[in-house]
Amino acid sequence: MCMEDRIKRIVSALVVLLVMGAVLLVSRERRETQTAHTKDLFAMDTFFSLKVYGFGGEDALEQCAERIRELEGLLSVTGEGSDVWRINHPDSGYRIAVSADVCLLIESALEIGDETYGALDITLYPVLREWGFTTGEYRIPQAESIQALLEKVDYKKIKPDTEEMTVLAPEGMEIDLGAVAKGYTGDCLVELLRNRGVTSAILDLGGNIQTLGAKPDGVPWRVAVKDPFEPDRELGVLEVTDKAVITSGGYERYFTGEDGRDYWHILDPADGYPADSGLVSVTVVGDSGVRCDGLSTALFVMGKEKAVELYRQAGDFEMLLVTEDGGLYITEGLEDCFECGGGWCAEIIPAGNQPGIRSKMKGV
Ligand code: AMP
Ligand code: MG
Repeated sequence: MCMEDRIKRIVSALVVLLVMGAVLLVSRERRETQTAHTKDLFAMDTFFSLKVYGFGGEDALEQCAERIRELEGLLSVTGEGSDVWRINHPDSGYRIAVSADVCLLIESALEIGDETYGALDITLYPVLREWGFTTGEYRIPQAESIQALLEKVDYKKIKPDTEEMTVLAPEGMEIDLGAVAKGYTGDCLVELLRNRGVTSAILDLGGNIQTLGAKPDGVPWRVAVKDPFEPDRELGVLEVTDKAVITSGGYERYFTGEDGRDYWHILDPADGYPADSGLVSVTVVGDSGVRCDGLSTALFVMGKEKAVELYRQAGDFEMLLVTEDGGLYITEGLEDCFECGGGWCAEIIPAGNQPGIRSKMKGV
């Protein structure tokens, strides 16, 4: 064999080796991006179940867990020394210095309070405590004591300063961010994961779902929505990409009073009693977890008619409503991505006169 032939053979062998190496690398990488890393933890009084795909998934999950603990420490209403606790226990009438997380979250919650005509009110805490929803020692309060405590309820009096990161709350007022905390936490975790280059994740925060991207194979996530009459069953499945899916339901926390009636944990700030709007479950789908969380609680209080009005005005979320008489209603933007479960049939709520804005949400 001449020298030239030898060189040709060596070059061919090298090319084959290189190609094989590249194929191996690509298939390893593909396998890795398809690999799920999971973490379950109990925090904020609920179960978190996190699933992240791709390189560095384990480290990303550890960081998520740290972030959850950090937010729990700031937001806990009972944890002595937390930002929320310090706002509720001021030494004097001075502004309380808080973390940016708490200050911005309060600002968002107040905005949603305005947008929903006070249906979301973070100052309901004294009334919630009277019902025992903060401790689990449930009781039906006297009408007079609810009336007296409502004097201390008015979210408009809470003044955050997002430049100085301080909050001023009048003496005797107490806040609770339970209606928005998990949605905000979902937003923070998605931001953290995005910054680490993660492109595919699904985060279950006590039944509230936050998705990042699509599944690793590009297919949308399938998120089950619970049947509020039989929470072990589902009333349907939503297919979503890069969205928060957040539900407020009477079934999530309630007690049966001595009078045999059920009393749930979502109160109407107008009278201090469990919301009696005709809705038993509200699911909100949108880009921002904190917004979906705040809205799901508020729309539960507002009822179907006002919820539809707000949906048409806002144009940046979709929703699924279940009424106490067993009606299921979904907004137009969910039509192509919601599959009804057995026995359920959904009526479509048209987007109304804002087709331009609404069409952007199609195919969530
Ligand atoms: P969610 O599960 O997000 O609907 O939040 C419900 C929690 O928010 C309750 O357990 C209470 O702690 C609190 N809450 C109840 N009613 C209201 C309301 N109208 N506005 C603000 N927070 C509320
Ligand atoms: Mg909520």
